[in-house]
Amino acid sequence: MKTLIVTIALIIFATNSLAQEDYESLLIKADKIRSSSPSDLSKILKHIDPLKLTPKQLELFEYLSAYEISYSGDLVEGVKRYNIISSKYSASDSDIKYRAILSSVNNYALMHEWVSGLKSLEHLLGQLDKIRETEIVEQSLISASILYNQLGQHDLALKYSETLLSRNPSKRSSCFANGQKIEALVKSEEGTIGTNEFEDAIKECEEQGEKLISGIIKSYWVSFLIDSNKLEEAHTLALASLEQIKKTNYPPAIYDFYALLCKTEYSLRRSESAIESCLQASQNEEGTYLPPKIEAFHILSKIFSETGSYEKSLEYYKKYAEADKTYLDEVKVKQLAIQQAKHDAIEKANQIALLDKENTLLKTQARLSKEEQENNRLFMAFLMLVILMVVLWAYKNRRMHLKIRQQAETDDLTGISNRGHFSQVAESALSYHKKTHQPLAFVIFDLDLFKNVNDQFGHQVGDWALKAAVDALKRVCREQDQIGRMGGEEFAILLPGCSIGKAMQVAEACRLAIEAIDTSPSGEHFTLTASFGVADTQVCSYEFDQLYGCADHALYQSKENGRNRVYRYIQDTSANPLPTQQTQ
Ligand code: GH3
Ligand code: MG
Ligand code: MG
Repeated sequence: MKTLIVTIALIIFATNSLAQEDYESLLIKADKIRSSSPSDLSKILKHIDPLKLTPKQLELFEYLSAYEISYSGDLVEGVKRYNIISSKYSASDSDIKYRAILSSVNNYALMHEWVSGLKSLEHLLGQLDKIRETEIVEQSLISASILYNQLGQHDLALKYSETLLSRNPSKRSSCFANGQKIEALVKSEEGTIGTNEFEDAIKECEEQGEKLISGIIKSYWVSFLIDSNKLEEAHTLALASLEQIKKTNYPPAIYDFYALLCKTEYSLRRSESAIESCLQASQNEEGTYLPPKIEAFHILSKIFSETGSYEKSLEYYKKYAEADKTYLDEVKVKQLAIQQAKHDAIEKANQIALLDKENTLLKTQARLSKEEQENNRLFMAFLMLVILMVVLWAYKNRRMHLKIRQQAETDDLTGISNRGHFSQVAESALSYHKKTHQPLAFVIFDLDLFKNVNDQFGHQVGDWALKAAVDALKRVCREQDQIGRMGGEEFAILLPGCSIGKAMQVAEACRLAIEAIDTSPSGEHFTLTASFGVADTQVCSYEFDQLYGCADHALYQSKENGRNRVYRYIQDTSANPLPTQQTQ
């Protein structure tokens, strides 16, 4: 108390020079005394300049201001401010938003705005796991059990008070939770409750200085004793507790006690004291707390009726009926609020279920389209693989085909066309030249006395000589000239577009080239020569066999006339196809 006075003095005289640390300690102090000393709370708040506060300090300042306004009686404005705080600081890492919601629940209860109160409460309870300050969690659970007890939902009140008790709460919270638990058990008339439970709860609250709560618990104990028909015991306890209750200055508790006394004394047939107690209980003329009034008016009406004072009895009965009706209307409003809250909860659950369903549907659709995409991708990859394999196979097949064809068309030793292929090429060339009326010359030659080369130097040297002869030919011939090995050591050259004169020159050049071959690379020294026969389409024919025959005839002439020479075929009608002409 002393420190508080010092603090307030400090505020009054040194407001202008307050540092942020001072604001911090002032706000903490204001928060602590907010319920026990509301007037001091107002004084402190008045001397705080919100512009000088840190964002965190401002949160607490705004909350305490809303609390102060609520306490001053402007519950509507208080709720408005609490709602602003909870939405404004919804992303704050402090618990201020939960404190604001909690206080708004209390305001709604005081305003009898049950539907809004239940909504705020539900919102708060849904976020309990996010609240870091244990005290706020405990207060939230206490608020829940108070509100549900007020609304006659004692099973829920019991659930929340027991939840709090199971969390090993502070002694003060435990006192409040036990108070609500006992109220729920007594009012719901469900479950048993032992004397020691009342005693323990009362003891705990008294240790914490919570006289009002312990007094209220005593009133539930009296009720419980009356219900158990232990009237004397109930009366003794009520009388013994009355002074304590009066000291709390809390009218509802005081009227409750008088109503309990009235009820026990009437049951014990102590009419005089019963009338006195009942009149005390019904004194809260303009009070909104109806249950003790109803009880008192009802008993007074009965007592006066029993003593023959019918007029008085009727008067109290009317009062009783009026109060009872008002109370029942209130109960109805509360029940409607509960129904509304239940309906809202079902609606919300339905909406959530619907959203869940939509969500599942969307998820399934997304999964399906993803799977479809995956399948398409797999199919494309598979298709590409198949195409690649087909292309590879076609390429390999073609290469193999080409290789086989090449093998089939070429002579292994020399690499030039073999007889078969050469004949085909020659025939198609002849046919083309015939059609286009172009000349085509044909040269054949045979290596001279080649058997001797083999015999003298071996077959390998013979092979070398065959290849050397072909190389010599290639150097002489044009690109378009076709060379072929017709068998053994006999070769042919097809000269497209050439007349016999030109062909004779080519053949001669070939003869000279073969003769000039240096055989030393074979390891042997010898002279290689060849005999040539030349024919063309103008002197012979466009038929390959005939052209071949003409050239062969000229070759024969070459051999006959001493070898290593070039003869051309000359058509002689008298001795066809002789004679041929030598170039040399
Ligand atoms: P001519 O001047 O009358 O043509 O006499 P020649 O000895 O060349 O004729 P002949 O027909 O008697 O002999 C041809 C020889 O060519 C016989 C054969 O061994 C040889 N010969 C044929 N093909 C090959 C071959 O591929 N390699 C080798 N080394 N020799 C071959
Ligand atoms: Mg020969
Ligand atoms: Mg031969």
